[in-house]
Amino acid sequence: MKKAVVVGGGFSGCVITEMLKSRGFAVTVVEAGGFVGGGCRTFFYHGHPYTIGPRHILVDVDEMYTWEYVERFVKMRRLDHHSLTYVSRDNRFYTYPIHRDEIEFMPDKEAVRRELAERADVSGSQNFEEYWVNSVGRTLYDKYINDYSKKMWGIRNNREIDDFGFSPKGVALKEGSKVSFEGSKVIGYPIDIEGFNPFFKACVDGATVIRNCPVHCLDVDRKRVLAGDEWIEGDIIVSTISPDIVFDYCHGELRYIGRHFMKLILPCERVTPEPYYFLYYAGDEPYTRVVEYKLLTGYKSPDTLLGIEIPTFDNKLYPYPVKADIAKARKYIAMFPEGVYTLGRMGKYQYDNMHVVIRDCFKLMKTI
Ligand SMILES: Cc1cc2nc3c(=O)[nH]c(=O)nc-3n(C[C@H](O)[C@H](O)[C@H](O)COP(=O)(O)OP(=O)(O)OC[C@H]3O[C@@H](n4cnc5c(N)ncnc54)[C@H](O)[C@@H]3O)c2cc1C
Repeated sequence: MKKAVVVGGGFSGCVITEMLKSRGFAVTVVEAGGFVGGGCRTFFYHGHPYTIGPRHILVDVDEMYTWEYVERFVKMRRLDHHSLTYVSRDNRFYTYPIHRDEIEFMPDKEAVRRELAERADVSGSQNFEEYWVNSVGRTLYDKYINDYSKKMWGIRNNREIDDFGFSPKGVALKEGSKVSFEGSKVIGYPIDIEGFNPFFKACVDGATVIRNCPVHCLDVDRKRVLAGDEWIEGDIIVSTISPDIVFDYCHGELRYIGRHFMKLILPCERVTPEPYYFLYYAGDEPYTRVVEYKLLTGYKSPDTLLGIEIPTFDNKLYPYPVKADIAKARKYIAMFPEGVYTLGRMGKYQYDNMHVVIRDCFKLMKTI
């Protein structure tokens, strides 16, 4: 039987483990934490299920095979996605993405309309700031995007962000329906109160999982991984950890920003007004996003749980959408020899969601 070693038992490590098992590999997963599922794992706070930041799946409508893949293991519930952004200088919430119909409620609507009429061509934009100013004008950019993005990335200037394909969630200025991603993505969450946990369990069932074992050393030439003080060999290795670790930081450390996560229970059935459950904060508040979890998880309770996300450099979650950082990551990725693969959000140093991860796992399996 062929052997595979998977480094990191997060969402991507679990999916690739499942696929390798079904191909007949004996798989060993080496995971730094005490559980599998990584950032998408569901935990419980006084009975309320939550993940560290919301983790619903967003599937491209023309690639529903990733949804079907998840549904082989957990039944999914479809959701509409509704979010609001608090614009402190107007003292009010507006829907996000920015909606054309709400301009009339803005105190500076004349300036907004003038700037929209005079917009430059967006296609030549060189960086994130230019992209947004050219898309919606300076005033809307300042209200919704400018401070939010600086806070999100811990940067002083949005011109630093020069690889911004990830950014606009659909369109920059929406018209018609206020549902985000309408017509482009199917959004869902497991019906099971434990979220994706049963999916992770099924993925690693029958594999050997070594928990609480951060990997600091991979011998890519001999296809082996140092787990504690034991070398584990494989016919193939799939790494889902940051590639700078794999090559002992020989090109320098890759930059990430993370999140502190606060949980707050409130004594009422529901806090956010229907149909909203994601709140973004675009001003100088320390947090970027607040999510009401019950509406995502379907949990029933007379109380409600809010999750509050605060950017930090204390942990590593988001790779930087900056060409210089991406170029450094590519140097590492080019060093992986045949039979050793790098996968997942850190492994590819890309802002990938679960749908993209599953798609990449299918692609990778075609090459193995
Ligand atoms: C706050 C936040 C919210 C998000 N919301 C959504 C969403 O709503 N929808 C969506 O589709 N996607 C969302 N994502 C993205 C989604 O979580 C990722 O696509 C997915 O988690 C990627 O899986 P992964 O395995 O690459 O990374 P992770 O799930 O982060 O797993 C990485 C795993 O590797 C382990 N690990 C790290 N270093 C080592 C080491 N040295 N040795 C061994 N193990 C190690 C970690 O402990 C972890 O278990 C969100 C991401 C964040 C940060």
